[in-house]
Amino acid sequence: MQARFSALPSPEALYSVSGQRGSLPALRARAPPSVLPLLSARVQFAGLVKLPSLVSLLLAALLTLSGAAAVVLTTSGAQLPAASPAPAPDLAPPKLAPQRARALLPPPSPTALAASPTVAPAAPSPVIAPTISAAAGAAPVARQRAGPVTTVPILMYHYIRELPANTPDRIGYGLSIPPVTFDQQLAYLARAGFHGVTMSQVTNHVLTGAPLPPRPIALTFDDGYSDFYTAALPLLQRYHFTATTFLVVNFLGRPQYMSWQQALQLPNDGIEVGAHTLDHVDLAIQPLATATREIRDSGLILRQRLGVPVQAFAYPSGRYDAAVLRIVAASGFTSAVTTNYGSSYTRAELLTLPRVRVYGGITMPSYIKEVGG
Ligand SMILES: [Zn+2]
Repeated sequence: MQARFSALPSPEALYSVSGQRGSLPALRARAPPSVLPLLSARVQFAGLVKLPSLVSLLLAALLTLSGAAAVVLTTSGAQLPAASPAPAPDLAPPKLAPQRARALLPPPSPTALAASPTVAPAAPSPVIAPTISAAAGAAPVARQRAGPVTTVPILMYHYIRELPANTPDRIGYGLSIPPVTFDQQLAYLARAGFHGVTMSQVTNHVLTGAPLPPRPIALTFDDGYSDFYTAALPLLQRYHFTATTFLVVNFLGRPQYMSWQQALQLPNDGIEVGAHTLDHVDLAIQPLATATREIRDSGLILRQRLGVPVQAFAYPSGRYDAAVLRIVAASGFTSAVTTNYGSSYTRAELLTLPRVRVYGGITMPSYIKEVGG
């Protein structure tokens, strides 16, 4: 039995429903079986708004009993009803596939290794291994550090839109920052002397020590929603902040997503474009051929159609494994961002960069604390 949200348009939402959380045994023990598949999602959301766990348990139970939750329980492989007009990708709940034949993995080519300081040779890597185990939102694992540590917060945004606080789309709410709030955040950053930098600037700094402006901060926007262009971009320009957008190639032109015409304008507006696969699939469970196509072709298509370098990548829902890292390195990407939490990293972590999630409902004091202000 798996739990999926079918009425929520965000690909991130699909993932966050089934993200495995490590802190729930006590709740699980007390929950009725029908609630178990929902529990992790509700608790995760509750965590975002800092509700006590017991409250979230009650919320999950109430939503289940009332049938109000936009959740469809399916058995593996079943089709989900199209409850949302938005083009929700059929993201299977993350399920690690250890059976994916490691023996079939091509050894990393010398070129790929040269292109990526992160991908170590076949020998177990002290950096990659614990990071992979921490993928999908597991508890942070102490990472072995090598070389200078860079501290430049990389903020993770999704929607810049207003959703009523009482919306039933709780996950969507958690991914949405109202434009007025985004305005306040940028005003704070500008007032506090922060300067926006792109992922390329961050990468160059980590690799070569290239200087960055004072108080650098990287704003990133996942999925390529149309409100980036209509709501976020005007505010970024007003406060003279740049940003990086991670586009899902095959989503461009769909409802709620940017058009190709808008995407083509982004470089002219000083916005860096990064790749976020073709179809927003969970890369950790794809056959290697599919993962390769999703990663490599998203970069190739964006470079070709936009006519600019595309060197930054974002893992859909933060999902990756060692094979995925090799493919990203071999596909011309020099950095890749995750959903792991943090603001500091070394050269060895350029393909597993942590970020700071800016969640719906975040207060200004919390935001200021998160950006290190
Ligand atoms: Zn995404």
